[in-house]
Amino acid sequence: MKLPEAFLESLEGVAGFEREPFVAVHEKEEGVTSIRINPAKWTMGDTESTGSPSPFTIDHSRLTPVPWSRYGFYLDKRPSFTFDPLFHAGCYYVQEASSMFLEQALTQLADLSEPLTVLDLCAAPGGKSTHIQSLLHPASLLVSNEVIKSRNPVLIDNIVKWGSSNVFVTNNDPKAFQKLPGYFDVMVVDAPCSGSGLFRKDESAIAEWSPNNVVLCSQRQQRILADALPALKEEGLLVYSTCSYSTEEDEAIMDWLVLEMEMENVALAGNLADGIVATTSPTTKAAGYRFYPDKIRGEGFFLSCFRKKIGGPQARLKVSKPELLPAREKKIIGEWVNETGMEFFRFRNGIIAVPAHRVNDFAQLLPLLNLQYAGVAVGQILKEKLVPEHALAQSLLLPETVAATDLDYAAAIRYLQRQDLPVVPQTLGWQVVRYETKNLGWINALKNRVNNYYPKEIRILKQNNTPFAK
Ligand code: SAM
Repeated sequence: MKLPEAFLESLEGVAGFEREPFVAVHEKEEGVTSIRINPAKWTMGDTESTGSPSPFTIDHSRLTPVPWSRYGFYLDKRPSFTFDPLFHAGCYYVQEASSMFLEQALTQLADLSEPLTVLDLCAAPGGKSTHIQSLLHPASLLVSNEVIKSRNPVLIDNIVKWGSSNVFVTNNDPKAFQKLPGYFDVMVVDAPCSGSGLFRKDESAIAEWSPNNVVLCSQRQQRILADALPALKEEGLLVYSTCSYSTEEDEAIMDWLVLEMEMENVALAGNLADGIVATTSPTTKAAGYRFYPDKIRGEGFFLSCFRKKIGGPQARLKVSKPELLPAREKKIIGEWVNETGMEFFRFRNGIIAVPAHRVNDFAQLLPLLNLQYAGVAVGQILKEKLVPEHALAQSLLLPETVAATDLDYAAAIRYLQRQDLPVVPQTLGWQVVRYETKNLGWINALKNRVNNYYPKEIRILKQNNTPFAK
């Protein structure tokens, strides 16, 4: 891996940059593998309670904690996650460890004991969004936005897998959020950047790097922030991050936020984990945090936090009237969804469940944003019966009383490949299939065959049935 000389020269004198160890770590073959568990679907005790018999990623003996995240763990080697059914069940997300530092910003600077309204502005594929969701009070709302349309499906898939019901996914340009002045308590901007922090993981990023691109990215980051910041409340928290080492995208943006956007920089309290580099911006001495792969177990990352000093008036938004599900249809879905605290609407040809205390947000955001997904997709009613959505099987709203068939490892992989299943369910009709007690999706058992309803868009394409190595 040959790093561009212009890139290395541009980092001379930057806080924490040391050329020799930095170059050396980019020449090393092995990277770092880390996962973040989903506390709503997995507790560390699960490993013991299920007996951990078969191919299993989440195995205590192989996990070392990421120092800055209670849910993050390093693995001693990189397994084929594709062949771990628990990955598909949403028990964990494979995420680069440095990025998990977001948790420190949120736990220190936001009141997570209260319901918050949070915007994750640049959200696909959903690493930070799923993390934020795990940290928030359950009555919070997370709007997870991705401007690039083609990146929306993967974001929705990851939100669906996470099983929560308090996330709305939108597909909007940052400018669209100007229609929501002062709406959000917290805004996370994990900005598109020149990507040097990911050189170790993605060599193609090296070829795309140029000093000119760094400048373009810096200008784009300013545009994104300036467009979206009106949507943050007075005293609201902005977390800005990149995976670039370039000061134009990091320290210079901090200075610009303080000088031009009237944001107040906030430093994190307490001791930083070993190897994290505290940096300050040249003019306003704003505090930020740099991650270098030669200093910590993780990739290149930068994060800084701000409070909005001066907010405009809060939004007085019109409330639309989303189409409530009629009582007759609500009765049909009753046995399939835990209804407590939920309201049901028709949305995009189907039925969705939205937390009752967030219905007002749903009604306000629906006409203003390009809402792609909200709450939990429940399914459609056909011939007076529910045809359930995959999202419902993954959701925590699915009652335990719904019929289920347990699959062993080989059958679970066949299911995830959308192949025929060698199982004879105890009952006929729609039911979930489970692996190690975790729901994977739906089957419909007919008298003479079992139909596999795992969504074809996310099925495992590799046919290699190599068992997942422990
Ligand atoms: N936060 C994500 C995560 O943790 O999984 C990663 C986000 S990635 C660093 C930046 C995202 O910004 C990309 O998904 C990209 O499509 C999006 N993006 C690109 N141009 C943008 C723009 N002009 N405004 C807002 N977002 C943009």
